Amino acid sequence: MYKTADAIIIGGGIVGPASGYYLAKQGMRVALFEKEYLCSGSTGRCIGGIRQQFSSETTIRVAMESVNLFTKMEEELGIGVDWYPGGYIFLAHSEEMKQNYLSVIELQKSLGLGVEFISPEKTMNIVPSLNPEGILGAAYCKSDGQANPFLVVKGYTDMIKRLEGNIFTYTRVTKINVRHSRVVSIETENGDEYFAPIVLNAAGPSFKEVGTLVHIDLPTEPERHEALITEGVERILEPMLVDYRPDGCYFNQKIDTGQFIGCYTPDPKVVGDGVDSSFEFIKEMSKRMIRLLPVLRDVRVIRQWAGSYTMTPDGNPIIDRTEIDGFYVAGGMCGHGFMLGPSLGKLVAELITTGKTSIPIDEFSLTRDFGRKEVMK
Ligand SMILES: Cc1cc2nc3c(=O)[nH]c(=O)nc-3n(C[C@H](O)[C@H](O)[C@H](O)COP(=O)(O)OP(=O)(O)OC[C@H]3O[C@@H](n4cnc5c(N)ncnc54)[C@H](O)[C@@H]3O)c2cc1C
Repeated sequence: MYKTADAIIIGGGIVGPASGYYLAKQGMRVALFEKEYLCSGSTGRCIGGIRQQFSSETTIRVAMESVNLFTKMEEELGIGVDWYPGGYIFLAHSEEMKQNYLSVIELQKSLGLGVEFISPEKTMNIVPSLNPEGILGAAYCKSDGQANPFLVVKGYTDMIKRLEGNIFTYTRVTKINVRHSRVVSIETENGDEYFAPIVLNAAGPSFKEVGTLVHIDLPTEPERHEALITEGVERILEPMLVDYRPDGCYFNQKIDTGQFIGCYTPDPKVVGDGVDSSFEFIKEMSKRMIRLLPVLRDVRVIRQWAGSYTMTPDGNPIIDRTEIDGFYVAGGMCGHGFMLGPSLGKLVAELITTGKTSIPIDEFSLTRDFGRKEVMK
């Protein structure tokens, strides 16, 4: 059988399905390939936080559009995704941190984001159980929030199918065929060949590896990040609480179950796409959470796991066409792919179908200078 599509997508995390949905909406026949099950990569391992507080203009605008899309998602996809705008609070425990936040708030406000630096008193009003020790205030955006990654991906992939696309799970793409500098087809581990004039690499932690199939170097590197979830208890926390001290952590309380879910950034970083869990994390993370919210002392952790952040040198994603006609890349989401995914998926579809994007994404180009670093990470 001669198998064809208008666009082939490699990766069933958030980025592949969101891009596929917007392409299908434009009338393209999409074939999406996932080497395991949907959400088996980073997306199913994330903690579901959605924020717009960044230091790069492009990322702020993309994140604001994502929040707009999360707000309308139930209506758009016909499935509830547990979207809840409980806000994000970035705590300042030092003058340096306070100045950091104040400096980016100017830019965020100039782009229309409702964000403010709040006093220690107001911080305590929003999170009454917070340990007040050392708090100089916080950067607070109340339209940030949370959603359920599994439901979001289900929403997009069900819509792709409804729009006559195909989702192939447990089907690894092992080869991408290029003729005369133009992509023509992919081959799977089962030996099948599928033809399409467009192929999108949305392979998450395997982004770089999929790039090597066409000899394109993609400057990303996966890093292991661990997470945990507690039993569900009475709701005491509205926003995601972010403590960026070297021994800090970030967590929120899930709207549907009352469970606390969170992680911290390991130091030193753990390079590679390993997803093993450590006893050190569960011990350390529990300590850090209790330091911020002492009432968590008696709450039990029920599960821990790990996944990958796919890092770029500057902490921002890579969204671009490439020197191979028809071969597009959308990866290097760092720790922000779930929140940016809906909006990036829309932009990827615009780039593919019109050659332009409604939000300029030069800052995400593959050939940019990677020297400028994201501050809010
Ligand atoms: C512990 C943790 C917490 C996080 N918390 C947040 C958060 O609160 N908010 C947020 O926005 N982000 C968070 N992130 C980051 C977020 O999970 C990622 O940025 C995002 O999920 C990346 O999505 P993706 O679609 O690029 O990649 P993935 O979800 O990894 O999807 C890529 C898929 O491609 C598949 N694949 C790879 N190679 C092939 C191949 N050759 N053929 C077929 N399929 C292939 C993989 O199996 C995978 O399923 C967190 C990450 C971790 C690990």
